[in-house]
This record gives sequence, structure tokens and C-alpha cells, in this order.
Amino acid sequence: MSINIALAGNPNSGKTTVFNEITGSKQHVGNWPGVTVDKKEGTYKKDRDVKVLDLPGTYSLSPYSAEEIIARDFIVNEKPDVVINIVDGTSIERNLYLTLQIIETQIPLVIAINMMDEVEAKGDTIDFNKLSEILGVLVVPIVARKAKGLNHLMEAAIETARNKKKPNNVQVFDKNIDSALLKVEQLLEDKSPDERRWKAIKLIEGDEVITNGLSDDTIKQVNIIVKEAEKEADGDTEAKIADLRYKYISKILKGIVKKSEKGHVSNKSDKLDKILTNRFLALPIFAMIMYLLFAATFSENFLLIKGLPSPGIWLAGLVEEGWGALTGGIESILSNAGASDWILSLVIDGVMEGIGAVAGFLPLVLVLFLLLSFLEDSGYMARVAFVMDRLFRHLGLSGKSFIPLLMGFGCSVPALMASRTLESDKDRKITMMITPFMSCGAKLPIYAMFAATLFAGSNKTIIVFSIYMLGLVIAIISALLLNKFAFKGETSNFIMELPQYRIPTGKSILIHGWDKVKGFAIKAGTIIFVSTVLIWLLSNFNFTGMVDMEDSFLASIGNAIKFIFAPLGFADWRASVGVVTGWIAKENIVATFGQLFGGIGDEATIEAISSGAQALPEIRDVFTQVSAYSYMAFNLLCMPCFAAVGAMKREMVSWKWTLKAISFQMVVAYIVALIINTLGNLIF
Ligand code: GDP
Ligand code: MG
Repeated sequence: MSINIALAGNPNSGKTTVFNEITGSKQHVGNWPGVTVDKKEGTYKKDRDVKVLDLPGTYSLSPYSAEEIIARDFIVNEKPDVVINIVDGTSIERNLYLTLQIIETQIPLVIAINMMDEVEAKGDTIDFNKLSEILGVLVVPIVARKAKGLNHLMEAAIETARNKKKPNNVQVFDKNIDSALLKVEQLLEDKSPDERRWKAIKLIEGDEVITNGLSDDTIKQVNIIVKEAEKEADGDTEAKIADLRYKYISKILKGIVKKSEKGHVSNKSDKLDKILTNRFLALPIFAMIMYLLFAATFSENFLLIKGLPSPGIWLAGLVEEGWGALTGGIESILSNAGASDWILSLVIDGVMEGIGAVAGFLPLVLVLFLLLSFLEDSGYMARVAFVMDRLFRHLGLSGKSFIPLLMGFGCSVPALMASRTLESDKDRKITMMITPFMSCGAKLPIYAMFAATLFAGSNKTIIVFSIYMLGLVIAIISALLLNKFAFKGETSNFIMELPQYRIPTGKSILIHGWDKVKGFAIKAGTIIFVSTVLIWLLSNFNFTGMVDMEDSFLASIGNAIKFIFAPLGFADWRASVGVVTGWIAKENIVATFGQLFGGIGDEATIEAISSGAQALPEIRDVFTQVSAYSYMAFNLLCMPCFAAVGAMKREMVSWKWTLKAISFQMVVAYIVALIINTLGNLIF
């Protein structure tokens, strides 16, 4: 018999950690609220008949955000055999609010109290048996990060699912609310009493999603009952119900949680926060940390030591060398086997140069990502979002928008999905329009390529860092303008909790790194491979057969569109083609340059990357430093890759809005690149 288990819990309570441990899968674990936006499925590694589902983190089952709707729809409509509610033991009061709401659905439930290592470190104690007795559910203490207690937890869950054991009908509400509930229940037609009860609670809470499914007549009668109850309660029933739930929780916890004396002294986290979220210091510290991150990725004089390559640069050199050797090997095998010229050209100039150009820069992406995920897992990024909230309020957005924006440094696709966590439609739309301005990992090879070719000798860290900052600044200005001129509406309030600082586990960091490498390998094997072959075909042929590149199809296409880019400083057919192939995947630009300009992936680039010398004479014939900067800015800001456009369409629902967003991004990219090119040529 197969069993369906759903993991539910507050954001950041450790659901994904539990999910990864019990399924053996590698989902992204982040130390901040709102990382899991879609449900993720897996099977229990010790029993493949047990299906496990990681729901998005929610604070309640009321539909305040898209995530809460996903979680609740699943629990209420799909009815898993058992829900495992992951509770953060360090803030059990807040977490139990969701627990009570899950109990209201009367679905079989098991509670896992997580983060017991931190609870014990604080010296607090929790009486699990008593909690279990009161709620009528099994309660299992766990330390998800160390995989402690998980076998027990799964046994408890499977047992509960088999017995179909429902939680106790706990007495949370007062007489007034209870009698109102009874009256509403009588109006409902659902067969199961549990369902009637749950719907009645939601109706008294004023839940519009449930109201929508009722007849006008029923709604009228419900409204009368609610009005009566409000008169009695002397206030809003929704607030009253929330209040009663909290009162109930603090009442039962009195006998269950014993806080130690030393827990009240401000802990290390608080002290660190005094500095890191300080009104004046926070932003300079953030900028400095980011700068260090980029230095570790790009600097040739790492830690100010002359000639010491940063880990990123060092690794990039190794990969380039390895790829060069591999290409050489394949070339000699092919020519020994008597391969024809065009096969050689396709394999070597097309595929190997194209993919190699991107692969050579991959180590830079990897290093930057490992460092970023360290910051994220440690809890620091959540502080940055918190600090940004002050700034974002001035932009008419909530600090919550900063989360998708920051995720955008990784990849726009999950970042766009994360915009679901925003409550107001206005915030969601503006955030989605500006998220692609964040420089994603795939754009990094473009900058690395130009840094190696045109900015040799100058400070590459500053060049690349400034492009990243440019994206951030343009995003902020855009938000301001969109908010002022394109949208009207209120900013929703944002309460974000700051997670404890935690030293990230090596495992979680490695998962992040692996994700990146795997993502690249998949892209290289599919889209980049196909488009390198396509580019090779288009750049070596025209209707008459195989020709010089200058006479190829691709040159005709590029030549036809290059006038558009003349004001931006790069009226070259190869550069124009690069913009277009960049929409397939941004790192494709580098693959395209590798093929069309020749030289990337050769000895010359290895030299350039590791020594800071100038390489790729052909690129320098076409670009100046100013136009290269303008090109980088244009590709940073213009339409994101098709995968991201797809994600935008899914989240925005309508094509109309997606097209609006893309047009906006194109116009912004063009204007910014124009300004850079014009001013740059005046100054330099
Ligand atoms: P989710 O948002 O509920 O999916 O939570 P995650 O699984 O992403 O975990 C949030 C953070 O809590 C991460 O930094 C985890 O490493 C950390 N974490 C998870 N379980 C434990 C635990 O048992 N003890 C401690 N100290 N940290 C944990
Ligand atoms: Mg998660």
C-alpha cells in the first residue's frame, strides 16, 4: 500500500532539510524564508512506496499569499495520508499557529520538533509527551541537519497514516465563536462533518476563496451569523479567532516549555545583528562583503598579493588548459582517422570552441556561487533583505521583493517564481519586471570574457563588480519609476523573521555547487550544443555552399540588424548575432564569440585569464573598452533568456503583461547602453 506524506511548516523551519534527508534528494536548502516556492516530490529512501512532498513554507492556512494557497489546497483537496508538521523548536509559539490550523482540517498529523540542537544549546526543555497527549498527535524531536530522529519520525508518520488517526478536537474557541460555527455548519452541504467544520471556521474568518464557492443565499445567511458574533465579540471575528488561537497556544505551552535563565541573555546572533543590521553600517558592510566575494572570484592579485590568482582565476586556468588538451586530442584522433575538413571544422571550431569558451569561465561562476550560498545559508542574506526593507519602502515595494532580486543573481527562473511570495499584485509585477536586471550566473562568463580581452591590466574586479551594481541600481530606479507612473496601489506590510545565524554545513554548500555544475552540464549538452552546431552551420554556409564567414547566412543576418546597435557602439554583425543567441541562454554569447571571433579557448586566452595579458586581437578590433562596457550593460538588461521569459509568462499569467515587461526591459537596456556609450566616448 502506498502512503502519501506532505511536509508542512513555517518558512525556514527545516522542511527542505528533512525532505532531502528522508528522500536522499538534493533540493536547495536556504537559511531564509521563502526558498521553496513549488511543491517538490520524492520517495522515502527506505521504502519506495512512501511518497513525500515538500510544501512551500507558510505561517497559516489562510490565503494571504500564493504559497499559502498552494499548501492549503494540497492539504485540504488532495488529502495526503498524513501531514508531517515541521516545527522550529526555537520558536514553538509562532509555529504552533499553523499546527492548530492543520489540526482544524482533521487530517492525520505528526509533529516534528526540529532544531533540537539549538533548543538544547539554549538550555530550554520541551515536554513532548504532554504536547502529544493534548493535541492527540505523535510528537517527535529531531535535528534535521544531523539526520537525528528521522527514522522515528518516519515510523510515527507511517503508523499514523496506517491507523488514519485524527488529531484531537481541541477546544480553541470560546462559546460565542463556537455557537456561530455550529450555525454556519448547518448551512453547509458538505457530507463530511470535518469538512463542514473547517469551512465554517474559514467562513467566519472571512475567507474569500471559500465564500466564492457558495450560493448568494448562503453567503447572506453566513454574513448575518458573523455580524451577530461580531456584536457579541465586540470586534472583528477574524482577529478574534487569531487571538483565541494564540491564547490557546500560550495556555498549553505553559506546562510544556521550560525556558532556561540563560536564554534571556542576548545571544551571539543578537550581538552580531547589532553590527550587521546597524542603520549606518549595514549597507557599507554589505558592499564590502560583496566586493570581497568578487575579488575572490576575479582578482589576479588576490588579497593584494601581487601575482596571486584568486581561487576562481586559478581554477579557470586549469579548466582552460584541460579543455585545450582535450580539443587537441580530439583533433589529432579525427585527422588520423582521415576526417574531412568540414567535420574537423564542425567538431573543433564549432562544438569544442563554442562549449569550451563557456566551460572555461564556469569555475568563476562556481566560486562566486559557493561564496554566495555560504552567505545565504549562514542567515546573512536574510539580514540584508531586512535592511533593504527600509530602502524598499521608499521605492514603494516591500523588503520581501529583495528576496527574488537577490535570487536573481543566481538564476532568473527560480527568482521569478519566488515573486509568488509577495502579497500585492503590484509588488509582484514590478518585482518580476526588474528581477532580470540582476546579473544571473549565466551572464558572468560574458563579463569574464571582456575582462580577459579588453580590460587586461586594469582592475577586473572593479569592472565586473560595477556591472553587477549597475544592474542593482537600474532595478531600483526602474522600481521607483514604475511605482510612480505605471502602477497605483498600496504596499503590503512585510514582516520578515530573521533566522538564527548558522554555520552552513559543507553538504549544503556542495549541493549548491553541484547544482550549478549540473545545470551547466545539462545546458552544455542540450541548448548550447544545439546552438553551437546551428551557429556553425549558419556561419559557414550560404545558398552557394560552404563559404567564408563574412559571406555566410549568419553574416547577412547580423549585417541586416547591426544598424540597430550602431548608436550603442557595437555595429558589428558578430556582436549583433551574439545578442540574439544570448536569448537562448546568456552564456551562449560567449560560445558564439568563441566560434565567430576565434581564439577563445586557445593558449592565448589561458594566458590572458591567468596573467592579465591581452588576448583575442579580433575582439579588440571590434570593441573599445567603452563599447564593450555598453555591450555588457545591454546584455545584462535586455530581454532575459527564453527560459526566464517562460517563467515570467507562467507567473504573470497573461502574455500582455509578459510582453509589456519584455518591452520595458528592452527600452531600458537600449537607453542605458546608449548613455554609457555616449558619455564614455566623451570622457575617455
Ligand atoms: P525550509 O525553509 O523549511 O525548507 O528550511 P530549510 O530546510 O531550508 O532550513 C532552514 C535553515 O535551517 C537551514 O540553514 C538549515 O541548515 C537549518 N536547519 C535545518 N534543520 C536544522 C537543525 O536541526 N538544527 C539546526 N541548527 N539548523 C537546522
Ligand atoms: Mg524549503
